[in-house]
Amino acid sequence: MSRATEDDHRYIWHPFTATEEWNSYDPLVIERGDGFFLIDENGTPYLDGVSSIWCNVHGHGHPRIVEAMKQQAERLCHSTMLGLTHEPGIELARRLVEMTPQPLTRVFYTDSGSTSVEVAIRMAFQFMRQTGRPHKTRFISLVDGYHGDTLGSVSLGRSEPFHIGYEPITFEVFKLRPPFLHEPVAGLGPVDDDSLQAASAASLDELAGILQEHGDEIAAIFLEPLVQGAAGIWPQPPSFLRGVRELCDRHDVLMVCDEVATGFGRTGTMFAVEQAGICPDILCLAKGLTAGYVALAATLATDAVYAAFAGAYDEYKTLFHGHTYGGNPLACATAIANLDVFAEEDTVARARDHAEALGGALDRHIEPLEHTGPVRRVGTMVGFDVYADAASGRRYPAAERRCHRAVLAAREQGVIVRGLGDTMVLMPPLSMPPDLLERLVATTAKAIDSATAG
Ligand code: PLP
Repeated sequence: MSRATEDDHRYIWHPFTATEEWNSYDPLVIERGDGFFLIDENGTPYLDGVSSIWCNVHGHGHPRIVEAMKQQAERLCHSTMLGLTHEPGIELARRLVEMTPQPLTRVFYTDSGSTSVEVAIRMAFQFMRQTGRPHKTRFISLVDGYHGDTLGSVSLGRSEPFHIGYEPITFEVFKLRPPFLHEPVAGLGPVDDDSLQAASAASLDELAGILQEHGDEIAAIFLEPLVQGAAGIWPQPPSFLRGVRELCDRHDVLMVCDEVATGFGRTGTMFAVEQAGICPDILCLAKGLTAGYVALAATLATDAVYAAFAGAYDEYKTLFHGHTYGGNPLACATAIANLDVFAEEDTVARARDHAEALGGALDRHIEPLEHTGPVRRVGTMVGFDVYADAASGRRYPAAERRCHRAVLAAREQGVIVRGLGDTMVLMPPLSMPPDLLERLVATTAKAIDSATAG
């Protein structure tokens, strides 16, 4: 065990990590990144198959982005957005407004996906109070939705088993079953368009029922558009989003789209909502905003929402919310360079081609496996489940940690992936070329085979 490993075990409490299990083996100590590889302290390269938790876009150490970071770091690393402003923050806001659907016109910066959602909760709640609808104080979210780990976002996304027991310190929301939990799709992986449409119609009926009964209490619905990521990469058809938009308009409810995971090209378009041709009232962005290099998030709102916060100071209509590093200039300069690279390298269009190659590799290597269910893929977001018996859908006992074993086996072969329970997730950087995608999928397939043997 190296000194670094010993000190890690002694001093660090890792996120979403069972501490005893963590301390039972030597952790991988990553020293640097190079393109699509993470390189450990011994110089061994590992393919980054989950974009360093769903955020890396163009690979590690992209020279254009690193240069922009260096230049900004020499100029100014941090000032504040409280009472001051700066050029990178202004330019980035303008570009975000230009590239997102209209009428999103205002950008509120924070520093993580979770805080971008917290801000959206407060915007929606206060918007209703300040526009003569103080009774609209409640929210709807999707079953198995995930919006982050601060308590507001946990209230929206509360899921078993992570949030068992948190009821006393979170607020209750109306839960809508998304299409993947409705017949005829429920429980299945392969979702042909017709069955997904039918399930979506059932989900929209359920939403109409909730709004019929409780619409006058509800301020907003929060959802991850097109794909529920942390639920296990479960898709919705674009028509579902159009249906939600219509129902929100009919019942005077704000639509908040959390594109923290789906934004910046992951689903095949720059933003998932583009595929439905709709515009939410509030849009949350993080992760890929800075190409996955530094922490930054943005909550975009329409002029109508923004206008409700106007007034003299002593009317107390202000959004009294902010985080020290929200809109950090180094992060904003990084995000601007990221957007430049998107344009220069035509990243979204290329990622659509890569997604086709990824689909082919999944067909060849994962679909034939004995212990996996059907593959779900939207753009470059991939999920599939590991089963004791795939035909009946019988799972392994959680303690066997089969998916986690596959993660460790893939690592032995130089590939980093990460499961969610017994759902394996692959989410390569958008620019990862087809030969590396092939390697990612083939290695993962072999790792699952070995982890499910016996
Ligand atoms: N919203 C969605 C849809 C996410 O997938 C995530 C993280 O995976 C978050 C919010 C939380 O983002 P963060 O981890 O940056 O707080």
